[in-house]
Amino acid sequence: MSEFICPQQGSRPSARGREAKSYLRADGTCSYCGSITEQAFFAAVEAGLEVTPTDKSYKVYVDVPEERAGQPRVVSVTGGDDQPGPDWIPADPAHLEASGWMGGGYNWMQLAPRGATRQAKFYLEHLSYEGQIRFVALVNAKGMQLAYPGFFYVAPFFCEPVRKGSVA
Ligand SMILES: [Zn+2]
Repeated sequence: MSEFICPQQGSRPSARGREAKSYLRADGTCSYCGSITEQAFFAAVEAGLEVTPTDKSYKVYVDVPEERAGQPRVVSVTGGDDQPGPDWIPADPAHLEASGWMGGGYNWMQLAPRGATRQAKFYLEHLSYEGQIRFVALVNAKGMQLAYPGFFYVAPFFCEPVRKGSVA
């Protein structure tokens, strides 16, 4: 497993007094900040998937392909103690039958099939220097599909708006 220092954590030492290393989790996200990788971000942008600006200069959301398209996801749960997480797997009907679910012990959840994409977060610190240049070029060429409001209302920390034609 290759380790790296997540740019979000910078060079802050861990509680144990040495640099804590980050690694890519099985789902391809940074173990420190949960961001997808620069490669996954650009793959989504190049595929024409939508990028959603935020009010943070270091964060965007981006649609990425849903590996479990069509499988059920939990839309809402009410009154239950068991709050299913994103990795929830539907119970085996045979198991439910055997456990007598109709007699109690289970709450109802609202389900809906997963779509073709899901939203992931991307922390812009995860962009390399070359990645920042590629990001700016894509924005300027309108090669990035931006969700509402259609522009970065807070500029990414490595960008500054300039009037067209004002830079020689
Ligand atoms: Zn990170």
